[in-house]
Amino acid sequence: MPEVNAYVTNAPKGGINFKKVQINDDEGNVTLRPVLTGICGTDRGMVRGALSFAYNPEGYAYEVIGHESLCEVIDSESELFSKGDRVVPIVRRPGDCPNCRIGRPDNCSDGKKHEAGITGLHGFMRESFKEFDYNLVKVLDNSLGNVAVLTEPMKNVVKAFEVFDRIRTRFVFENERSTFLGKHAVVIGTGSEAFLYAFTAVDYGFATHMINRHPIGPTETKLCDTFGIEFIDSSKNPSFPENFKIDLLVDTSGDPGTIFKYIRQMNHNAIAILFGTNGKAPSTEVSGEDIDFIIERNITLAGSVDAAMIHYLKGLDYLSKWNRRYDGILNTMITKEFKPGDVDLFSKKPVGEIKSVIKWN
Ligand code: NAP
Repeated sequence: MPEVNAYVTNAPKGGINFKKVQINDDEGNVTLRPVLTGICGTDRGMVRGALSFAYNPEGYAYEVIGHESLCEVIDSESELFSKGDRVVPIVRRPGDCPNCRIGRPDNCSDGKKHEAGITGLHGFMRESFKEFDYNLVKVLDNSLGNVAVLTEPMKNVVKAFEVFDRIRTRFVFENERSTFLGKHAVVIGTGSEAFLYAFTAVDYGFATHMINRHPIGPTETKLCDTFGIEFIDSSKNPSFPENFKIDLLVDTSGDPGTIFKYIRQMNHNAIAILFGTNGKAPSTEVSGEDIDFIIERNITLAGSVDAAMIHYLKGLDYLSKWNRRYDGILNTMITKEFKPGDVDLFSKKPVGEIKSVIKWN
């Protein structure tokens, strides 16, 4: 195996280095070169040692980080892929539990799955690597271009909405016309995942609101305007009016205080998707009244993690649809490109960042 330059961390302690590594068990029938690798909240959380669930691959004192990747095939022994194809490698790899065995390692029931760049498997921030074809999703819509790097974060959203769809069948969630029109979806956060959640909520027909505790910049404002999303700066508007009820709450902040503040404004039969992870977020007080509030209204709090191959495929379709409908607008979500070797990008979040990427050539 040749030595390649890679971003490595020591999970779960954290830290980041860009250095030459030799991964002797790099196996697969397709050889890939990254085009763009996205930086996500999880990467930064790992680097600052905030994600206790992350761990190094067996036999290594480090882990190659990175799980959001758009790659080009540079060599293929597989009939399914040819040189020049653009592909997205799948993050989760199955263990042996019943969910893993049916292609749903996102619902792994014993925790023995692995996640590239996060839990026990080297990730994608390296100059080249091998993969087996069954871990790759081909990007068929060439017009997506670099936007296809958003496939990995988008697949999480598709899976979370599948969770929402399952839960909402417990009761009549829709309005009298069996649509979501007039229902309110609130997304906490304004990062890339938050925007993809908000776009999907709009697609469902929700009146959609995004919240952060500071103003947003022109790029975020343009995205909100284009999709018809209302942005709320919670430092100026700390709560919704008394008669405003949240039907779908999505959290991407991982901040318990903020989550519970908005849970207290949820409607009967409302659903909260907990998605953001921040093990270092401050604790919050939850009272008996809060629990009564949740119970009396049949409110569901559902965690949602990762996704399966089906969600990558559907995620690509959503991205294609929006990018065509709004004339390439998703390109504006890639707010900064870094060169390989820059390590500050893990500690310093650029102002106005939606999605920062590493451009590999
Ligand atoms: P991100 O860009 O860091 O997004 C987090 C967003 O939450 C930022 O916009 C941040 O605002 C905002 N935020 C933080 N505290 C807040 C508060 N108190 N009130 C309102 N907004 C607040 O990260 P991302 O890549 O979009 O990912 C979102 C989260 O999901 C991360 O925690 C990540 O680790 C997690 N994640 C989970 C999964 C899963 O499968 N469950 C998968 C991927 C990622 P600022 O602009 O002020 O920073």
